Amino acid sequence: MENYQTLINQQKQFFLTGKTKELHFRLEALQKLREGIRTNEERLVKALNTDLNKSEFEAYSTEIGVILEEIRFALKHVRNWAKPEKVKTPTTHFGSVSFIYPEPYGVALIIAPWNYPFQLAIAPLIGAIAAGNCALLKPSELTPQTSAVLSDLISELFPREFISVVQGGVETSQALLSENIDYIFFTGSVPVGKIVMESAAKNLTPVTLELGGKSPCIVHDDANIKIAAKRIAWGKFMNAGQTCVAPDYLYVHQNIKTEFLKLLKQAIQELYGEHPLTNPNYTRIVSSKHFKRLQSFLKDGETFIGGNTNEDQLRIEPTVLTNIHWDDHVMQDEIFGPILPILEYHQLSEAIEGIHHHPKPLALYLFTESSNTQQTVLKDISFGGGCINDTIYHIASPHLPFGGVGTSGIGSYHGKGSFDTFSHKKSILKQTTKFDIPLRYPNVKDGLKKL
Ligand code: NAD
Repeated sequence: MENYQTLINQQKQFFLTGKTKELHFRLEALQKLREGIRTNEERLVKALNTDLNKSEFEAYSTEIGVILEEIRFALKHVRNWAKPEKVKTPTTHFGSVSFIYPEPYGVALIIAPWNYPFQLAIAPLIGAIAAGNCALLKPSELTPQTSAVLSDLISELFPREFISVVQGGVETSQALLSENIDYIFFTGSVPVGKIVMESAAKNLTPVTLELGGKSPCIVHDDANIKIAAKRIAWGKFMNAGQTCVAPDYLYVHQNIKTEFLKLLKQAIQELYGEHPLTNPNYTRIVSSKHFKRLQSFLKDGETFIGGNTNEDQLRIEPTVLTNIHWDDHVMQDEIFGPILPILEYHQLSEAIEGIHHHPKPLALYLFTESSNTQQTVLKDISFGGGCINDTIYHIASPHLPFGGVGTSGIGSYHGKGSFDTFSHKKSILKQTTKFDIPLRYPNVKDGLKKL
């Protein structure tokens, strides 16, 4: 196991110089990052295409564009976010004023997954820089081309004692986790999230865990099913279903099931054509191991659309499975691929109960025109975040903190949420010395005493 202590110590020393805390340093670093990304756009698109066969449109809209927008937002607001916030002081504290000072933690370790290998490494980094931290970035070993571009980009832009990319797999990740770091931001699977939290516990290092799980999507009998079909097909099959907030499965009301499925089929064909396996813009599965796991789900239920695969090219058609039940293989874990199982319900309470029997999801989507149904679902089901009458879009708003709850994650980020995540809130009470109220002291009977 390689030892990363020297690098971490260098970052700790650099942090102690106080440079990263200066506002102009943070702004300059964010501007540099933006310029570096713009200059390397073509390289990034190419790397994402080699690693996952991401189309130029998806590479830009779901990776590069999202990041440029996140940087723009941080540049616009960081001055305000970084200011100490004056808050109220109770009358019992007469004579004093109160402030909350956001301060950076120090050295932050960011561990990223492979599914959006650029976006999910850089989005937390923006928060780390904006809040004034140094950072170590560990991208995924499963997308080596993108990780290499990330490493080149960061080393061209920043000194290693400020930001450094460490490439490698599980062992590298574990070696980094064994060091005494000031903050850990992890995006990945639930089982690895537990390993990360266990390592963090050794030094009581604070963590953000952005994890996964089975995110449900409910299509109620009063939904606009044409819109629902289009938005679900888009959200599920983007990146071949390898999206943490993709609808994992659908709960569809029995009364509209047949009509909805017809529309869903149309929507999938409009997006990917009659032969998705030969569509050059359709993302592939990340590895042969992941492909085989997904292929094993295709035996479940009845295939309504799709089901064909190309093992040499690691492609699986957008597939919809009907006649599915909770005890089927495909319903046991997060699918994380282009396979969409359909469960049916008659009463909304059946869908709510089904979801209650499983861990709290990262996302939930609900298609209905009824505000009563919307309120019932929002009140009765705990989940990280989601959309009413849409899928995925909530994660692209810098005004909405994004994160899970329960096993789908701890903490949140995006927009100001990212700045807050990488900042400790230091509470300060500033007391007057002009007078001293003696009531707090034992055995003092007289009131206000002038000093
Ligand atoms: P993963 O947990 O296998 O890997 C994530 C990172 O952890 C990688 O950098 C990997 O090298 C490292 N890692 C793997 N095993 C490790 C171990 N034993 N010890 C220490 N580090 C280890 O996840 P993945 O397969 O890359 O990504 C898919 C999962 O991530 C899905 O569950 C998905 O839902 C989740 N995800 C969540 C979000 C979110 O924002 N909540 C975003 C994307 C993906």
